[in-house]
Amino acid sequence: MSRIWTEGFMQVLEDIIIIGGGIIGTSIAYFLQSSDNFDGSVLVIETEAVSQGSSWGGFHQQFSIPENIQMAQFAQEFLGELNRFLSVEDKIVNVDYHSNEYLFLVENQDIPMLYSTNILHHQHGISVGLLDPEDLSQGFPWLNITDLAGGSLGLSREGGLNAERLRKAFRQKAISLGVRFQNGELIDIAKNNDLANAITLSTGQSIYFKTLVNAAGADSSRIASLAGINLPMESRKRQIFSFSCRMLLEKSPIVVDPTGVHFRHDGNLFYAGCVPPKDKDPNCSDTKIDYDLFEEYIWPILSYRVPAFQKITMEKARSEHYTYNVLDQSPVLGPHPEINNFYFANGFMGRSAQASPAIGRAIAELIIFGEYRSLNLSRFSFERMVTGEALFEHNALQ
Ligand SMILES: Cc1cc2nc3c(=O)[nH]c(=O)nc-3n(C[C@H](O)[C@H](O)[C@H](O)COP(=O)(O)OP(=O)(O)OC[C@H]3O[C@@H](n4cnc5c(N)ncnc54)[C@H](O)[C@@H]3O)c2cc1C
Repeated sequence: MSRIWTEGFMQVLEDIIIIGGGIIGTSIAYFLQSSDNFDGSVLVIETEAVSQGSSWGGFHQQFSIPENIQMAQFAQEFLGELNRFLSVEDKIVNVDYHSNEYLFLVENQDIPMLYSTNILHHQHGISVGLLDPEDLSQGFPWLNITDLAGGSLGLSREGGLNAERLRKAFRQKAISLGVRFQNGELIDIAKNNDLANAITLSTGQSIYFKTLVNAAGADSSRIASLAGINLPMESRKRQIFSFSCRMLLEKSPIVVDPTGVHFRHDGNLFYAGCVPPKDKDPNCSDTKIDYDLFEEYIWPILSYRVPAFQKITMEKARSEHYTYNVLDQSPVLGPHPEINNFYFANGFMGRSAQASPAIGRAIAELIIFGEYRSLNLSRFSFERMVTGEALFEHNALQ
């Protein structure tokens, strides 16, 4: 932090302002402030304390884009050394990580994709088993395999954690290193020539900065628009329905049906979600639970796939929003090509928690060194929003 004269007044100049204290913003703040090559100030602005209440906190590795696989691998390395990274005053960091592999099921037309991603997985040293229908019926006798042509089962290093605990751990460590968090709602971004140089909060407070990072989750396109940038991202509602079933499945990975409907179990409860069909998936900000979506779309698919689910009791449901990149559902990372002190860390859909360590490290490297050092994520740059060159991930869960 330094001071500048502007409009006749002496003003504080923050080195970095991050908009968003979610898991992505806090991870970026942590990686910046923990770097030996950075000695500037980091201020995180957040509207309210957020919670990752609905996140499954799922971590899988079976992606179809190599960079997503590499980010998932770094997430596992990071979790393996969580205490070295995030412990404050030697207190143990517990994010409640538990192993649970993912099973992606495919129909005939997706067999070529299954094989090509399997080759990619082996090239990256991921332990994944290819299953044919007979393997599926032997391993998971409760599955209806009639229309299935195969599946891909993670054999290690997949699971889930409490994403809220991980966010808090990033936050506490970042604070211990000197990062400051401030409540406030960003309502304007001022520019001077081609650079953004100040934000205004709803209280009227202006804060000057050298670099601004947009980590505003589902609000990221609104934040970009304040700087005159069109970021084609929308807010999408995702719901998790939990239900009980009289039959307990002995051995159940997290199962992803070819339709994208997925479920996992935890104790006596099952949790299911989906990406709704396009005509039922508007840009939206309400959190109203849509039980019809479960009754009319999710449950018929579930009960076809697992006949034991024909008799279930609905327990509860939750809903939350995440950012949806309208172009290709992949993230946008790094500086804007013209306003190059405005950085994006947006569009992670249902993968923010597991992407957070790699994204924090990547954005910190870009800001500090002007380039990616550990993992080149330049294919996710803003340029493709201009060229329209889409980068689709085929094994995204949400
Ligand atoms: C149903 C569901 C299941 C999920 N499952 C998984 C999973 O299995 N694995 C996984 O990795 N991820 C999962 N996720 C994704 C993930 O955990 C969340 O989407 C995550 O909360 C997003 O993190 P974020 O940091 O990008 O944004 P957010 O947590 O939304 O944080 C955004 C921040 O921006 C701030 N902000 C916004 N606008 C302003 C403004 N104008 N001024 C100031 N601050 C502002 C907010 O206050 C907040 O601090 C799931 C998400 C959902 C909805």
